[in-house]
Amino acid sequence: MSGNKNLTRAQFDEVMVPNYAPSAVIPVKGEGSRVWDQEGKEFIDFAGGIAVNCLGHCHPALTGALQEQGNKLWHLANVMTNEPALELATRLTSSTFAEKVYFANSGAEANEAALKLARRYALDKFGAEKDQIIAFDKAFHGRTFFTVSVGGQAAYSDGFGPKPQSITHLPFNDVAALEAAISDNTCAIMLEPLQGEGGIIDADPEFLKAVRSLADKHNALVIFDEVQTGVGRTGELFAYMSTDVVPDILTSAKALGGGFPIAAMLTTTEIAKHLKIGTHGSTYGGNPLACAVGNAVLEVVNNEQTLAGVKQREQMFREGLTKINDKYDVFSEVRGKGLLIGAVLNSKFEGRARDFLVASVGEGLMSLIAGANVVRFTPSLVIPEADIKEGLERFERAVAKVVAG
Ligand SMILES: *Cc1c(COP(=O)(O)O)cnc(C)c1O
Repeated sequence: MSGNKNLTRAQFDEVMVPNYAPSAVIPVKGEGSRVWDQEGKEFIDFAGGIAVNCLGHCHPALTGALQEQGNKLWHLANVMTNEPALELATRLTSSTFAEKVYFANSGAEANEAALKLARRYALDKFGAEKDQIIAFDKAFHGRTFFTVSVGGQAAYSDGFGPKPQSITHLPFNDVAALEAAISDNTCAIMLEPLQGEGGIIDADPEFLKAVRSLADKHNALVIFDEVQTGVGRTGELFAYMSTDVVPDILTSAKALGGGFPIAAMLTTTEIAKHLKIGTHGSTYGGNPLACAVGNAVLEVVNNEQTLAGVKQREQMFREGLTKINDKYDVFSEVRGKGLLIGAVLNSKFEGRARDFLVASVGEGLMSLIAGANVVRFTPSLVIPEADIKEGLERFERAVAKVVAG
């Protein structure tokens, strides 16, 4: 296996906008949880395209669905609906709290729709003063200007001119701060039930209950951003299902397409009716190719066997990481849920998550970080046991190298 050697990493700096700093490796082929680069070097994939490739690379159910739809119908625009979109919306509504679905192409777009819907709903029902959006420190909701402004890192939204207004950021899991900030002018509370990019930080059950009850008291909507936690990642179809809280709006993307761009915003009929004809839209939202892949993803992921398999694999990761830690003493904690796992570096290795990632690449392992202190793993939900074992052995070698300096 080899790629086109005329295409090199050096060209990236010549022809691409410099907003990313990709590694020297250029992957050309993937199968299951293994990936090969231009040189034929093999990697085990514990990153899953950042929680996207929920069934690994080139899963036969997904390539089959894409090929079949690719020979039938590619695109229509929203002047007509299509069968894959109708089927996917029906799957999503029949397996969640939701009654209505809006399709988009990315997590940020689904969140943008959720925020616009919340603002419109509040305006229609309660008037213009009810526009406050409450969000949380370290939250990540995407990179459009509205979603990045709602996200909890000002550095990502600074430097682009005047920001969308009436957004309040609070410490995550702080009930007292929420009680103090919320009022009848609050239109929505937006959060990730388990913060991903922010460092794999779970919402306390008591905090979630307070979010729900305070929102109800003040007629505010609860928006769960499940772009990273959704579609089996935590061992439930959606993470809210293992909490006592049901949101009013939920967004999904990443794993929903298993590597094909698609996103969805889910809500109730009562709320959805405020997105009247012409209020919002997307050229590609509900595209037949994307929805055909989404149907194939849900067919494989949304069954007890796959979801139970996520919890078994979580155990293997936890045990393997604990063993590595017993030997090398690098983590203060292994946290997260299902196959959204964060290994938190202890004070000796503070701020050095990237060193572990780079060392892993050297050993033939793809991993992720979540902030400077957390090594993150979001592998395929169906990664074979042998690949977990082999990947953890490679990770151990990487850890040994970092520890040895
Ligand atoms: C990745 C992510 C997003 C943004 O999704 P894009 O597809 O990159 O726009 C939003 N919210 C959460 C929680 C995410 O993890």
